[in-house]
Amino acid sequence: TDQIAGVARSRITAMTEREARRFARARPYSRARLETGSEAFLHGVPMHWMRDWPQPFPLLIDRAEGARIRDADGHELDDFCLGDTGSMFGHSPAPVAKAIRRQARRGLTYMLPCEEALEVGHLLSERFGPFRWQIATTATDANRFALRVARAVTGRPKVLVFNGCYHGTVDDAMICLDEGRQTIARPGLVGQVADLTRTGVVAEFNDLAGLETLLAAGDVAAVLTEPVMTNCCMVLPEPGFHDGLRALTRAHGTLLILDETHTISSGLGGYTARHGLAPDIFVLGKPVAGGVAASVWGMSFEIAARFAAYDACRPSGHSGMGTTLSANPLQFAAMRATLAEVMTEKAYARMEKGAARLEKGLAKSIARHGAPWHVVRVGARVEFICHPQPLRTGSEAVAAHHPDLEAAIHAALLNRGCLIAPFHNMMLVSPVTTRKQIDRLVAAFDEILTELFA
Ligand code: PMP
Repeated sequence: TDQIAGVARSRITAMTEREARRFARARPYSRARLETGSEAFLHGVPMHWMRDWPQPFPLLIDRAEGARIRDADGHELDDFCLGDTGSMFGHSPAPVAKAIRRQARRGLTYMLPCEEALEVGHLLSERFGPFRWQIATTATDANRFALRVARAVTGRPKVLVFNGCYHGTVDDAMICLDEGRQTIARPGLVGQVADLTRTGVVAEFNDLAGLETLLAAGDVAAVLTEPVMTNCCMVLPEPGFHDGLRALTRAHGTLLILDETHTISSGLGGYTARHGLAPDIFVLGKPVAGGVAASVWGMSFEIAARFAAYDACRPSGHSGMGTTLSANPLQFAAMRATLAEVMTEKAYARMEKGAARLEKGLAKSIARHGAPWHVVRVGARVEFICHPQPLRTGSEAVAAHHPDLEAAIHAALLNRGCLIAPFHNMMLVSPVTTRKQIDRLVAAFDEILTELFA
């Protein structure tokens, strides 16, 4: 058809072309620097997905502070991407920056604990619940290690994930449903050799009957999921879904791993604390050290006891869990500062208030223009979705994603001073995001909708 999510294709094309020209015209310095100075990198970027933003060339960043980010041409942007959650509490929060400066004089990595680590352990239990903790460096690794423990204690081979999920570059979770509803490896995987369908199976979020059928096979070590699906277009759990998920996993001897890396936006203690969930393993990466690379994963006391019994009988040798720089003192310094002074009830109250304002503003604009779209929010995380109704499953979410339209909107927002996350339409409100910044984003969004729908 000649429409995408209610918008004429010709308008999307016109916006895309105009905004690309405008972006490039405003950044002669960045463009010249990238053209002459980036050839040492594969495809000219230090990380491949830096090319996946909708701009003709990447933003070259000069610095970021609070909820603002400045590019090398001197443009100040309101940052609602916030490093895709890594900087959810604002860039370089003062207590974290101070802790980093202090630790810089005391060594950066020892492979041994320090006193601050002990304090962090207690803070983690206080914030997230009674778990036995381990520290890793990325959420990807935390999930991988959690899956090892789940397989170890259950003696089962498979992980169950929901269609449309993302848990980092965890091989086991790189599966999806094909059109015939069968589990397959994600088609885009690079150099994939192992058959992922032997070690994983995919269900639909919010589908308890389908879940039960798969768990009944008795070969699923763990369900690995986010409490809310945030990595396609957001899918909220329906009433009763989490109760059912917990009851079914318990009934079938399957562990429940909750990956709170994004849903930590929900409030203090994440979605788990806010909604009284009871995972066997709790995972949190990205913002837990205020932007310093760190992740945490914790087992319930019961799983910790079962793992201790397993560990005692295991042949000596590599466990498959590790990475040398993990649990280093810089991570602990940054985590202590984040947990004690940044990730606070007060900060969440500000985030919640700002995000509610943003949600309301966007929804009002959508209604005013009669766009067949809607807005969802999970605490500080807000997303506009170019689809009329709330989404029930990952498959619906994948179908509701319109890359060309969304890229045009993202580019137009950027040229109006608002940076939002690429790949989906997510906006994060930090405790230092101002009302003015939120209102500017709503105004920019409304201007764009005027052009798309008028
Ligand atoms: N879990 C979730 C829910 C995520 O959204 C992501 C990244 N977007 C990860 C894990 C992986 O995090 P990292 O890339 O830091 O390993």
